[in-house]
Amino acid sequence: MRDGALGTEQLKIEVEWKPFQLNPPMPREGMNRREYRTRKFGSWEHSRMLDAQVRAAGAEVGIRFAHDKIERTPNTLASHQLIWLAGHYGRQDAVVEARQATRDPFLQPILDLAVPRMVFDRTLLVGDAAFIPRPHTAASTSKAAANAIALGETIRASSGDLDTALGKWESAQLTLGQRLEAQGRMLGNRSQFS
Ligand SMILES: Cc1cc2nc3c(=O)[nH]c(=O)nc-3n(C[C@H](O)[C@H](O)[C@H](O)COP(=O)(O)OP(=O)(O)OC[C@H]3O[C@@H](n4cnc5c(N)ncnc54)[C@H](O)[C@@H]3O)c2cc1C
Repeated sequence: MRDGALGTEQLKIEVEWKPFQLNPPMPREGMNRREYRTRKFGSWEHSRMLDAQVRAAGAEVGIRFAHDKIERTPNTLASHQLIWLAGHYGRQDAVVEARQATRDPFLQPILDLAVPRMVFDRTLLVGDAAFIPRPHTAASTSKAAANAIALGETIRASSGDLDTALGKWESAQLTLGQRLEAQGRMLGNRSQFS
């Protein structure tokens, strides 16, 4: 029905995306599509016949389905969680828009990492092994380099007392990591959630 017939030009429409999982028993890692469809539809031949029907219907409206390129049937739980989370923060439309504008979307989970110590006798944590600030700082590579450069300078200047020198190095590098980590949290929370 056309918009005019419904009089929708008078209405303010808000779209709410509802997560709905069609296939909850699907294993988390998904399944080989042929195996899954054979089990679901009784035989691979029957599944292919159904695919052909969908392909024909799609072609009529300009959608080209390429079922032969689908190797795995995924579990979609993570995408439902994303839709729910986006709704929780009132950002569903923005997430859908970003998804539609991205040709090959991928998701990179971001975890905050901050260790309380970097020196364990003669074993040291540097770079991402010690602190992973959120990517908003765009400074993790220089932090890793700063850790290493400072370590070289510390060892050169240690005059044989390596324990004391490493203690000073650790204190300065912990401060650097903690500051960057806090800045990443602040920038991330501000740009994505608040
Ligand atoms: C998608 C993405 C985008 C990023 N963009 C930016 C950016 O714009 N700016 C920025 O500053 N930072 C960015 N970063 C972060 C940056 O890449 C890291 O902070 C930086 O590479 C950390 O350096 P690193 O030496 O600590 O660790 P890595 O670069 O991860 O080096 C660790 C090395 O150790 C090797 N390794 C692991 N385990 C073992 C083992 N058991 N034995 C031997 N070798 C092992 C790994 O293969 C790897 O080569 C980005 C990261 C990602 C994932």
